[in-house]
Formats: sequence, C-alpha cells, structure tokens
Amino acid sequence: MPVLRVALDLPLHRLFEYVSAEATTNDVGLRVRVPFGRGEKIGLIAEVAETSEWPLEQLKTAGEILRDLPPLPADFFALCEFAATYYQAAPGEVLLQALPAGLKRLVVPERRKGRAGRSPSAVSPPPLTEQQAQAIAAVPGEGFSANLLFGVTGSGKTEVYLRLIERALASGRQALVLVPEINLTPQLETRVSARFPSEKVVSLHSELAEAARERNWRAAFAGEASIVLGTRLAVFTPLPRLGLIVVDEEHDPSFKQQDGMRYSARDVAVFRAHQLGIPIVLGSATPSLETWANAQNKRYRQLLLTERANPEATLPAVHVLDTRKMVLQEGVSEPLAAAIAARLERGEQSLVFLNRRGYAPVLACPACGWVSRCRRCAANMVLHLADQRLRCHHCGFEHRVPKACPTCGNQDIHPFGRGTQRLEAWVQQRFPEARVLRVDRDSVKSRKQWETVLERIHAGEADILVGTQMLAKGHDFPKLTLVGVLGADSALFAADWRAPERLFAQLMQVAGRAGRAELKGEVLIQTQYPDNPLFSAVRAHDYPGFATQQLKEREQAGFPPYTFQAVLRAEAPEMTMAIDFLKAAAALPVTREHDAVLVFDPVPMKMARLANLERGQLVVESPSRPALQAFLPCWREAIEQLKVPSKLRWHIEVDPLEF
Ligand code: ADP
Ligand code: ZN
Ligand code: ZN
Repeated sequence: MPVLRVALDLPLHRLFEYVSAEATTNDVGLRVRVPFGRGEKIGLIAEVAETSEWPLEQLKTAGEILRDLPPLPADFFALCEFAATYYQAAPGEVLLQALPAGLKRLVVPERRKGRAGRSPSAVSPPPLTEQQAQAIAAVPGEGFSANLLFGVTGSGKTEVYLRLIERALASGRQALVLVPEINLTPQLETRVSARFPSEKVVSLHSELAEAARERNWRAAFAGEASIVLGTRLAVFTPLPRLGLIVVDEEHDPSFKQQDGMRYSARDVAVFRAHQLGIPIVLGSATPSLETWANAQNKRYRQLLLTERANPEATLPAVHVLDTRKMVLQEGVSEPLAAAIAARLERGEQSLVFLNRRGYAPVLACPACGWVSRCRRCAANMVLHLADQRLRCHHCGFEHRVPKACPTCGNQDIHPFGRGTQRLEAWVQQRFPEARVLRVDRDSVKSRKQWETVLERIHAGEADILVGTQMLAKGHDFPKLTLVGVLGADSALFAADWRAPERLFAQLMQVAGRAGRAELKGEVLIQTQYPDNPLFSAVRAHDYPGFATQQLKEREQAGFPPYTFQAVLRAEAPEMTMAIDFLKAAAALPVTREHDAVLVFDPVPMKMARLANLERGQLVVESPSRPALQAFLPCWREAIEQLKVPSKLRWHIEVDPLEF
C-alpha cells in the first residue's frame, strides 16, 4: 500500500507518514485530510513512497486526498525547502503558511462568487527618459540576474517596472511585484491595471478578506492572473509562468517577518529568481546596505536613475535647523512655523513629520517621579488624549488616564515629550484658519480610510499634514512643497547600529514628498546635531556617500554585511530562566566544533520585558555565510535535545534586523 509522507503545519522538522490505498505518485503536491491526535488536519503530500521504515500496520490511514486544485509544483516545494533550511524553520510550517487559510480548512464554507473586476481603459505610457530606457535595456529578458534599480524619489522607477512587466507578459510570462505595505498596493494596483487593462491583475496581502485572498491566490496559481502584486507572504505564491520579480522599496523593514517564521521576503525573492533562472529587480532610492554592497561588488547589476522623470520637478532643497539656538514651541522652531505660514499664504501644503504617534510618549508625576510604565513590558504607556487612554504600543495593554498620580495622589500629573496628537493640537492652535490633517496609525486604521485620506490630500482639502512615516512612502502630493522634520535626533545615538540607515532612508523618503510637481520643494530638518555627517548626506541627496561611510564603519566594527548573524532568543516568566537556557545552548559541544562561528554571551534583549515575558538573546556570528549555515542546523538539533522548562519558548532568527 502506498505511503504518504505528509507535511503538517507543526514546528517539527519532519514529515508524517500515513498509508493510503487511493494514492499514486501523481498526488505529490495535493492536500490531504489526515488523522492527527484526536482530530484531523489538512496536510500537504510531500512524497508518495512504496515503503516506510515503520511497519505499515503501525501507520494510520490517511483520509480524503483533495483534488480541487492541481498539485503544487516541485519548484514550490523547493522554494519552501530553501526557506525552511536557511531560516531554520520547520518545512511543514513554511509550506502550509504559504497557502491561503481557506485551503487549510477542514470544513469549507459556502462561497459567493467574486465580483468581476472592472476593466479600466488603457493609459498610454509616457516616452521614456534616457536613463529609464538604459535601465530597461540593461535587464536581460532571460536567465537569472539580480538588478538594483537605484533611483531617487520621483525618478520614474515604477515606469521601469511597468515596461519590464510588459516585456515579461509579451513573452507569455507572469510577473510578481512585491511591495512593503498594504498601504501602497491600492495606488500601484490602479496604476498597473490602468496600464494593462486586458490582463488580470490580482493583489495578495493580509487585509484581503479570506475568500478574496483565496480567489486571487487560485488565479495566480492557475496562471490566469498575469500580474501579482503583494506584500511579503506573496513571495511564496506558486506561479506556473513566472518570468519577472520586482521588489519595490527593497530596503523596507516590513519585508522582514518578525514573528512565526522569520524570513526576509526580499532575500527569498532573490533565491526564487535564481531558482527559476529569471531576472529580479530590486528598486529603492535608499537601498539596504546589504543590497548596496552586493551592487558595489558586482554581484548585482546596478541601474541608475539620478534625475526626476519630470524635468520640472527638481529635488527639494534640504536645510538643517540648529535648534540649540532656537526657542521651540511644542517642539516647533520659529523658522519652521514661518515656512508653514508662507505655504498657507500661497495655498500650498506642508507636512510636519514626527515618527511618534499618540499625544505624549509618557505621563509623569513631578511630585514623586511616577511614570506611566506598562505593567507587562519594559516600556512606557503612551498617552492618547483623544480617547483618554494610556496605551502600550508594544503589547497593546491599555487603561483609562488616571485623574491623579496612582502613587502619591498628586492631581497635577503631566504629559512629557510629544507625539503627533499633541503636535496636531498645537499646529491647529497656531494656525487656526488652516485645515490640519493628522495621518498616523491611530487616525487611519484601514485601507478604506487610507484611500479617503489620500483623496482628501490630493483634492487639496488639507493645508497642513501632521504625520508619521505612514505618509513618507510612495505618494505623489502635487501641492506639497514643505516638509518639516521633528524628532530625528533620537535615532542618531541609538544603541541599534542600523538606526542611522533607517533614519537616512526615512529622511530621504519624506523629503521625496516635497516638490514632486512643478512647485519647488523645501525640507527643514530640526536637530541639535547639525554637523552630523548623516545630515550633510541628506542635504546633498548623497546616498552613495552615506552608504560608503556607513559600510566603512560596519566593516571596521565587524557588523553585517561583513559578517553574518543569527540570534537565539528565549522568552520566559523569569529572566534567569531565559538566560540559563541560553547559557546551556552556548555551552553545547557543537558550539566548539565550528571554528568559524563566534558565539557571544547571553544578554537580556533591549526590550527585556514584553507582554509579561522576560526576553534574552544570544548572538552567533561568522565571517562566512556557509559556515554559519553549516553550524545552525547542528546547533538547533542539539538545542532541541536540551531539557527546557515548559514555560520557556525559544526560536532562532537568521539575519536579524533587530536585537
Ligand atoms: P519613483 O517610483 O521613482 O518615485 P514614479 O515612478 O512614481 O517615481 O514617477 C514619478 C512621476 O514621474 C510620476 O508622476 C510618473 O508618472 C512620472 N514619470 C515617470 N516616468 C516618466 C517619463 N518617462 N516621462 C514623464 N513622466 C514620467
Ligand atoms: Zn506622584
Ligand atoms: Zn506593554
């Protein structure tokens, strides 16, 4: 009787065996119902074998093999297997998380048919700029190539993507476009559908209703959809005719999944292009330093767009305001306020950027020193005045704002520092005639709200925008001519050595919002450290200079991309429990058998307590990626053999971005 080797969504590094009278070798890649524990699960048939190392009568009998979908292809298995191996994840978890939820249900609900998409009228493409034409010509149509499209904001990267997609479609292939955030998909979807009105374009992201997601996934898998736009999980979508992958804003941290299976969708995408022998284009105005280093050492081809596509739209002038010599009102300097006033007078828009939502980051009692700490985390509770709540932005815990100090009863407790709500209130008070619009995750919660907000900004229904990085990305606001940046300094001296890279990207991105059309843009950055080289690079729009300086520092300090890292993390009710476990993992014999791998000491994480759990970590590092990759599975297997307290959870993250 045939033996099915089945992948199940479990954190175990093995397949599960069942017998099935009806199975044939053609059933590899189909879903199957199997008994598991006292219930049933949906698994994926990874192999059909003749024999098992177990006596067949000890194996359970599989249930129905589901034949509503064609079998998932070998390249899908190979991609998931690569991801599982590279990221030390369980293969079954990777395979099954890549499927839409509806395909993993034991009971399938009745489904209504999806709406037929409208078919917009075609928009004719603009003539290419010289640089765009060169970039497109440089990407080979066939064979694996990794291409970095390094183009300043507004340089017309999207047009390059569209032409490359057109070329892929013309040769009968599908295109996969990955974008960092759901927020960006509606805009791009409209643009892509308008360009290719006769093609089926589908999107795949977490905000889609389950049924829509499954429908889109099926269309992609069946090859009916020729263009797939999606966020990170879409990288695993099986696509029978895939001929091009685009990763827009490739530097964006949201391509990295930070829980469950921890992977970088960008890096998986590069692997996938390599596996299929097709081109991949990574686009950014501020590439990640990893990608930049790959372009410098010629592993990736570099395509350059140094000028804005619209010749009228010049890059904004960036000025640094030295706040040490200025009087600030609610954090806003007089020159910035004056610049806003000038825009108001001219009927143009301003954006005040502050990457901290809420009213104030903490509420405190000056009498006894009480501060609003989160009971569950090593973090402060943020004051949200609008709904009178204190809220932890890490674990979500919240409660009412106390009327008096909970420790000493003092009624005169104060908010310290400021977030977007407080800034909005001040801006409105200072410019009573202006229409002020705050844009952050508290004011914009859904994709629908986001679309409404974008429409309002476009229609000129707001004079002053107060917003977080939500507003920084990929949007064209023709009337926006001034960007003021507050609170940039906190990233300059952060313990996290990636903070300058992120700050630079954020500043360039937000600066890119100003002056996209005919009106000249201006950016004013408030800082107490005007001489910091990061600001000089922003002023000069000099990403290459910034990257060179950062890479030199990284090389000297022995940080990525010059070393490769992984981190073992442990969460437990007590820190000692977590640290003891990490010490045991560090002391395992395998850690001494791999000379090229350096094992650091266990330490508490920067945010040591999250949602009532104490968190510790242990970094391992190697100058060689293969050496690290050879070490990790041995180490993981040895850790799995350790006796671990039942309340302790651990995981390994490869290429971590945060510590
Ligand atoms: P990026 O993605 O590089 O920030 P976009 O692709 O959004 O830039 O392009 C910026 C603007 O320039 C858009 O309004 C776009 O329509 C326009 N644009 C792009 N390419 C051309 C071109 N070849 N000629 C004229 N306008 C262009
Ligand atoms: Zn007090
Ligand atoms: Zn908390």
